[in-house]
Amino acid sequence: IRIEADGSYFQVNQDGEAQKLEKAKITLNDCLACSGCITSAESVLVRQQSHGEQKKVLALKKLLSCPGVHYVFDTTFSRNFSLLESQQEFVRRFHRQADDKKALPMLASACPGWICYAEKTHGSFIIPHISTTKSPQQVMGSLVKGYFAEQKHLPPDRIYHVTVMPCYDKKLEASRPDFFNQEYQTRDVDCVITTGEVLKLLEQEGVSLSDVDPAPLDTLLGGAAGELSTHPGGGSGGYLEHIFKHSARELFGIHVDSIHYKPLKNKDFQEVTLERDGEVLLHFALAYGFRNIQNLVQKLKRGKCPYHYVEVMACPSGCLNGGGQIKLEGESSKEELQQVERLYESLRAEIPEENQAVRELYQHWLGGWGSEGALAVLHTQYHAVERANSALNIKW
Ligand code: SF4
Repeated sequence: IRIEADGSYFQVNQDGEAQKLEKAKITLNDCLACSGCITSAESVLVRQQSHGEQKKVLALKKLLSCPGVHYVFDTTFSRNFSLLESQQEFVRRFHRQADDKKALPMLASACPGWICYAEKTHGSFIIPHISTTKSPQQVMGSLVKGYFAEQKHLPPDRIYHVTVMPCYDKKLEASRPDFFNQEYQTRDVDCVITTGEVLKLLEQEGVSLSDVDPAPLDTLLGGAAGELSTHPGGGSGGYLEHIFKHSARELFGIHVDSIHYKPLKNKDFQEVTLERDGEVLLHFALAYGFRNIQNLVQKLKRGKCPYHYVEVMACPSGCLNGGGQIKLEGESSKEELQQVERLYESLRAEIPEENQAVRELYQHWLGGWGSEGALAVLHTQYHAVERANSALNIKW
């Protein structure tokens, strides 16, 4: 059985002929036929309700490793690259703001819900503002089908790469033509399943998270993975915090220990400033949910957007509240959200610059910080989608 990124199922025979299945009941054992499968688990935090008491457990390799899955990686690793590339991109844009009116504000690009909306609704106007850095999912796609395939002496199309995400829109992202390898006719990410879908598969198989023994995750450079980690401000975004601290240091020589958000219209629209002698040096904001995104876009269109950087996420409260997340019976979404936030807070916060494996890959695989190789592998592009009505010259 093959699951496409758009969620459709195909039964593939030994000659490679695929037949689309209308309603597939897929079980873990169906996957035995595949030649090799790799799972990148977004946050690998999975929760299960048992006997009325909510149990929160770290998803274990055994759980995600259906027969045929050879490796399970943590997307926190690829997020290091997204954060490092974003910080460098911001500094480059900051330096060229005098000559390029669209260099700032830089808008985050990790949320495909927001990207899809921007491309379809505000196209060429907004695209120059969007960071070209790939999302953690797509960086992992490049790592797995690029670096890892090379290490294993496999062509990329011999690897089937599945990601586990909190979000249905990540399926759309994986299916973008920009992430399709023409030479090998393969996607960087072959299939995306949500955390909710993982739980359904497990329930279908009668597997309970609480009965599974822990197993270590794999690492791209070999060796056992350390303890699970996240990034400061991670969970929903974390880009703002990381880029803010880096830019303060790099551009103004100011060390920022902690970030103090100032809520604006609501908790999903907040701002942060860096000031010196009354002068605002950096002005960042986060805008979550479409109401706040529309507000932001209107500000941009009127030329009244005061920010240098905005972390934009389509879901209110960000990915923690993503549509693909597991929903617990008997818990309000607010309580659920608080529980997931506490889980993230309990993890060790990792500083991307300090990750030795990341440094090694930059040096030996990408050709160094800010190299042509890093730009080619870790960045992407966006495409304005012309609305049918614009051809009719309808004014909105
Ligand atoms: Fe997906 Fe929502 Fe997160 Fe955007 S904010 S990546 S739509 S879960």
